[in-house]
Amino acid sequence: MQDDLRMLADEIRACTACPLHRSARQAVPGEGSAESGIFFLGEAPGYNEDLQGRPFVGAAGQLLDELLSDIGLDRSKVFITNVVRHRPPERIHGRPRKVDGLVIFPVYHPAAALHQPALRGALAGDFAALALLLATEPVPQQKAEQKTADQMTLFGN
Ligand code: SF4
Repeated sequence: MQDDLRMLADEIRACTACPLHRSARQAVPGEGSAESGIFFLGEAPGYNEDLQGRPFVGAAGQLLDELLSDIGLDRSKVFITNVVRHRPPERIHGRPRKVDGLVIFPVYHPAAALHQPALRGALAGDFAALALLLATEPVPQQKAEQKTADQMTLFGN
């Protein structure tokens, strides 16, 4: 299993499947052991993770280590990684881009503004920019049979 994880980490370091590898310093494949069968999955690398190429370092990592220790777990005995393996740029929201003819327009999740009221202005700004975009960019017509089954995706298939 550890060999599989090492091979997967090499593949992730070489991955260029989405644009995030261009702005990140390096990939953050994950670290730890699969032997315990316990797996912690974060969202995406932050500043310190991008700098060190390791998941959950810096203040958040220290807190995670403390929380693990409190329940009798050692960080080295679990596997820690993120859904996204290259750090997204500081400001990904509010910047539309075209992928395969579709316009992708990332916005903050409304829950982020509920947790951090300071983000409410940025969220409102993103939606104002979205309204401008919708006024100028023709919305592609979907085939009727696709409407119920498809889920929105940021990076496509
Ligand atoms: S974020 Fe994931 S899919 Fe994108 S380049 Fe990095 S490893 Fe590949």
